[in-house]
Amino acid sequence: MIFDAHTHVQFPAYDNDRDAVISRARTAEVKMIAVGTQVSTSKLAIELAKKYPNEVWAVVGYHPNHADSLDSTTLTTSGWYHDKNEQADSEPEVFDVDTFRELAKNEQVVAIGECGLDYFRLATGEKRQVESVKEKQKKIFLEQVKIATEVNKPLMIHCRSSKGTDDAYEDLLNVLKGAGRDLKKVLHFYAGGSQVTKKFIDEGYYFTFGGVITFARDYDEIIKMIPMDRIMLETDAPYVSPMSRRGSRNEPSFIVEVAVKLSELKGLSIEETIEVTNNNVNKVFFS
Ligand SMILES: [Zn+2]
Repeated sequence: MIFDAHTHVQFPAYDNDRDAVISRARTAEVKMIAVGTQVSTSKLAIELAKKYPNEVWAVVGYHPNHADSLDSTTLTTSGWYHDKNEQADSEPEVFDVDTFRELAKNEQVVAIGECGLDYFRLATGEKRQVESVKEKQKKIFLEQVKIATEVNKPLMIHCRSSKGTDDAYEDLLNVLKGAGRDLKKVLHFYAGGSQVTKKFIDEGYYFTFGGVITFARDYDEIIKMIPMDRIMLETDAPYVSPMSRRGSRNEPSFIVEVAVKLSELKGLSIEETIEVTNNNVNKVFFS
């Protein structure tokens, strides 16, 4: 059995064949954590976890990209980041802390997220505007850290820095030194540089890696740096398929290829790689 620690099988991208996708995962002995990005995808993750109680678990949260166009004081929406994989129609959603608090209490929910900071898309914005969006993201992130603390569940963090920097990671470290200090924290799709990675290791963070490590060599040195007892496997499906499936929609059963690549990079057997990464998932989300 392999755990896909971060996937989005509840997204509209699978509306035509979701049961087939989950059945292929079952054949490949893959279990999964379906991660929300707003209210609709969080609710769908819970529903799916109820339908497949021994194969799918849910994470509920509000993705930082959706904060881009929210007013910092009123948190009202003036625009909306729209990805057709995630949402069929472009219906904006204002972050509502009470809704997420209620969702977070469901027994199928094993973490809060994906939440965090994303500066990647802000890189071309006007400076004053960029700073205000960063503040909005931090504010919404902190609300979710508070929820995670209340329900005592880990954080599934999305953090992406502007190109060639670790700016979002450094801010994240600072934000979480105060709030959320004692929570278990998972950095999904990790892409930080070596200096900031060392800090995250020292602070006890966990890291997930997916399909990108099968075809891009930029992650090799960082993966070698991180102790094996902090690493988990993910697909982030429907995004970023592994090498042999590049360009097509990703799905949890493809995770085997990621496990093989991680085992090569770590010089471990595939069995040991799967055992240790599964243990890490159990430690963080199920104990
Ligand atoms: Zn994701």
